[in-house]
Amino acid sequence: MKIFGLTGHPLGHSLSPLVHNLSFALLGLDAEYRLFQTPPDLLEDFFKQARRLPISGGNITIPHKVAAMALVDITTAQANKIGAINTFYWQNGLLHGENTDISGFIRPIRQKRFTHALVLGAGGAARAVLAGLQTLQVSKITICNRNADKARMLADEFETSWLDWEKRGETGADLIINATSLGMQGQNADKSPYPRELFRGSGLAYDIVYNPINTRFMLEAAQAGWHTQNGLDMFVGQAAEAFALWTGQTMPYAEAFEAVRNALLASS
Ligand code: NAP
Repeated sequence: MKIFGLTGHPLGHSLSPLVHNLSFALLGLDAEYRLFQTPPDLLEDFFKQARRLPISGGNITIPHKVAAMALVDITTAQANKIGAINTFYWQNGLLHGENTDISGFIRPIRQKRFTHALVLGAGGAARAVLAGLQTLQVSKITICNRNADKARMLADEFETSWLDWEKRGETGADLIINATSLGMQGQNADKSPYPRELFRGSGLAYDIVYNPINTRFMLEAAQAGWHTQNGLDMFVGQAAEAFALWTGQTMPYAEAFEAVRNALLASS
C-alpha cells in the first residue's frame, strides 16, 4: 500500500484525508492518506522518514510551507515565485516541492475575464492569489492589507500596486478577493474585510475562505448584486492538482467536492 499524508502543526480537523482517501477508493488505488502531526523542531526528521519509508507524496500546511522548501530536492518555478510549497511528490528519484494553491485558486475563474482585481490580505494565501492572478494575466492588481507595510512589500515583490486599507473601496475593481482570515469559522466567523456599502457596480466577490461555505463577505456582495465564489473549489482544486502529481490520475472532482461540502454542512 502507498502512503500519502499531510504534515503540519497543529493539524486540527483537516478535510484532506476525506478528499484523498475517497478518491483512492473510487479509483481502486491501494493507497492511504494520513495525518502527520509535526512540531517545527521535528520537520527535518519528518522528511528524513518520508524519504526512508518512503512516503509516496504529501501536503504541507501551516507552519511548514516555507521551511519545507529547503527539505526537498527540487522546487518548481511556481513554488519559488511564492516562496512556499504545499505539496511534495517524487519524480525521477528526486523529491519535488510544488505549490498547488495557485491552480486551485485559478480553477473557478479561469474562463472569466477581469480588468482590475483587488486582493484583500497580504499573508501566505495572498501570495498564491497574486501568482494566480498574474498567471491569468489580469492587467491591474491592487493589494490592500490592514498592515500597510506588508501590502507595500508584497506589491514590490509581485510588481503590482497597493493602497491603504482605508481606501479599499476606491479601486473600482471588478474582482474582489478576500484573502484575509476574516469570515473564517471561529472568532472571525461573522466578520467581513469589505463593508457592505463599498460594493458598487458589478463584479465577482471571491472568498477563499471555505469554512463556512457562505461568508458574510459573500452574502453582502450578493445583496449588492455581485456574483460570488467561495473557497471550496480552491481547496478541492489544490487537492486535485496534488493528486495528479502523485498518481498521474485525475481526481474524481465532483465526488470529492460533494463529500467536502457535505462534511462542512454537517459540521456547521
Ligand atoms: P495569514 O498568513 O495568517 O494572513 C492573514 C491575513 O488576514 C493577513 O493579511 C492579516 O492582516 C489579515 N487579517 C487578520 N485579521 C484581520 C482583521 N481583523 N482585519 C483585517 N485583516 C485581518 O493567513 P493565510 O494563510 O494567508 O490564510 C488566509 C485565509 O485564506 C484563511 O481564512 C484560510 O482559511 C484561507 N485559505 C484558503 C485556502 C483554500 O484552499 N480555499 C487555502 C489557503 C488559505 P495583517 O497582515 O494586518 O495581520
